[in-house]
Amino acid sequence: MSHGWGYAATNGPDKWGENFPIANGPRQSPIDIVPGETAFDAALKALTLKYDPSTSIDILNNGHSVQVTFADDTDSSTLTGGPISGKYRLKQFHFHWGASDDKGSEHTVAGTKYPAELHLVHWNTKYPSFGDAASQGDGLAVVGVFLEIGADNPQLQKLLDAFDGIKAKSTQTSFANYDPSTLLPGCLDYWTYDGSLTTPPLLESVTWIVCKESISVSPAQMGKFRSLLFSGDGEAPCCMMDNYRPPQPLKGRKVRASFK
Ligand SMILES: [Zn+2]
Repeated sequence: MSHGWGYAATNGPDKWGENFPIANGPRQSPIDIVPGETAFDAALKALTLKYDPSTSIDILNNGHSVQVTFADDTDSSTLTGGPISGKYRLKQFHFHWGASDDKGSEHTVAGTKYPAELHLVHWNTKYPSFGDAASQGDGLAVVGVFLEIGADNPQLQKLLDAFDGIKAKSTQTSFANYDPSTLLPGCLDYWTYDGSLTTPPLLESVTWIVCKESISVSPAQMGKFRSLLFSGDGEAPCCMMDNYRPPQPLKGRKVRASFK
């Protein structure tokens, strides 16, 4: 891993443990969610996502994914309810996707892979900043949404239209007034479990909230994700795809469901 982590054979998920031993820790993500082995928990509350479109700042190719970043200096865009207590602020959202439509999601459902997965990353405001929260057991809450092949998704299109300006690694462009709640499915039933970041440093600080219902994406829209590059300007072009970590061992954890 002399040139940093990535998703290639030489620096991919199988190698991350060399520099980040927590890769083999007790609460790693993603996992395979087996609905028949989850437990309905009547105490789980409904999710409340309040997002202010004016907090979206920019869209970035960070060399691993495409990410939209939000202003998080006030409680303008927050997640409350669900399995968490207190208030969590939206920091960013990003995606993971495959080289073809038969793979790409990080979580799987009874072994089923989706072509992509959206992650909305929030941090617990009981800590002073995202950076402080990221290493705490209750520091982060990530809402995961599967993308499933179907009709063109107009809510995704504004995002995809910005990709031409951020093809290469370490490029970004302003992305104002975007409401991420338009990317959520109509039904917010979810599974939840204690896990980790799915990229190095793989910190075990994430309360995962994975939506049961997926959102649609067309094959052409999936193609647009794959037009992004892992490589930077001046490097040999390398298409960004298969930027997902496979499911990790459950190690005795229980997955709870908000629905029967
Ligand atoms: Zn992610």
